[in-house]
Amino acid sequence: MSLSQGRPYLAIPGPSVIPDAVLRAMHRASPNIYEGELHELTHSLVPDLKAVAMTAQHLAIYIGNGHAAWEAALANTLSPDDTVLVLATGRFCIGWGEIAAGLGVKVETIDHGVQSSVDLARVEEALTADTAGRIKAVLAVHVDTSTSVKNDIKGLRGAMDRTGHPALLMVDCIASLGCDRFEMDAWGVDVMVAACQKGLMTPAGLSFVWYNDKADAARGRCVTNYWDWRARTDPKMYYQYFHGTAPTHHLYGLRAALDMIKAEGLDHVFARHATLAQVIWAAFDKWSETGPMHLNIANPADRSHAVTSIGIGPGQGDRLRKWCETQCGLTLGVGLGRTPEDAYFRIGHMGHVNAHMIMGVLGTIEAGLTALDIPHGAGALAAAADVVARA
Ligand SMILES: *Cc1c(COP(=O)(O)O)cnc(C)c1O
Repeated sequence: MSLSQGRPYLAIPGPSVIPDAVLRAMHRASPNIYEGELHELTHSLVPDLKAVAMTAQHLAIYIGNGHAAWEAALANTLSPDDTVLVLATGRFCIGWGEIAAGLGVKVETIDHGVQSSVDLARVEEALTADTAGRIKAVLAVHVDTSTSVKNDIKGLRGAMDRTGHPALLMVDCIASLGCDRFEMDAWGVDVMVAACQKGLMTPAGLSFVWYNDKADAARGRCVTNYWDWRARTDPKMYYQYFHGTAPTHHLYGLRAALDMIKAEGLDHVFARHATLAQVIWAAFDKWSETGPMHLNIANPADRSHAVTSIGIGPGQGDRLRKWCETQCGLTLGVGLGRTPEDAYFRIGHMGHVNAHMIMGVLGTIEAGLTALDIPHGAGALAAAADVVARA
């Protein structure tokens, strides 16, 4: 019997759960875009978005998803025939490289497979070998949403500095911003991209590029008026923020989301995500004692606090996802970018999530494993509850 009636839970790694406060803020008549409240509200977003990224550098906002921010970051800094070094740790950095190729940029890739974080020694080797200085930028993801690996961005900066190579460091924090600690300035990141529909808890449609003076000075020939980050960063007229009509309702929603992050405090936001991730890992440690399930990333230090990828054997990922959705109203993420895709599933635990939601996800998975006769170790829920109890 389906028990799915009630509030559904979309536990995929983006879009994430939208808080009621964000939905309420968006439920309103259209504001005047030429003057008044909307202008004040937009100005107020800029310092708060910089605070979330821990930067005092520049910010440009785009109406678009994460792919738009990917393109904006590359277009402003690169010229056709420049080379970028892609540090692939799953599907997403490869996708960023594909956007670069579309701009006529040459792409070199260090492929780390789907179960490990960036190998700093290999990056140092590649940059040291580039004596001609062909590589203009190193592209990395902080968290790769397909594999749930988290990369050591501070360490990556250190490795780049040791080679003395001048390439820009560009980082995708689309899955991690507002979930996993990220410090743009302290870690020496030149360009960072994110979008609003994951840790920032707002419906998809806004994306962001933070960049420093070094990145601005790079000024590539790929840039067009629309993607140019300069006018958006320092608009003389309000419409220049968005190069056209403002995304009015998204701005109200984002304001409410940033207010929630401010009220909770960024440190608490990070600590909550870290603890909830440990709750999930504790359950999987027990489940994996028997049967096919295993966390995709073995080393806890390399795991994201926003998304978890799990291997469960061919066909079983899809069976479990379908059971959880139709029987219980819980939607889990597909095994994006994995082969075969149906041998994996992912849990999104980014943004507006709390302990009872995570315990609900785990309890539903436990029921699904039993219903579908998928072998699994005992004691997972007790182990998860124990982490919550000790938090
Ligand atoms: C979601 C995601 C993207 C793509 O964002 P879209 O909004 O779907 O374009 C890129 N990189 C990472 C790490 C992501 O999690």
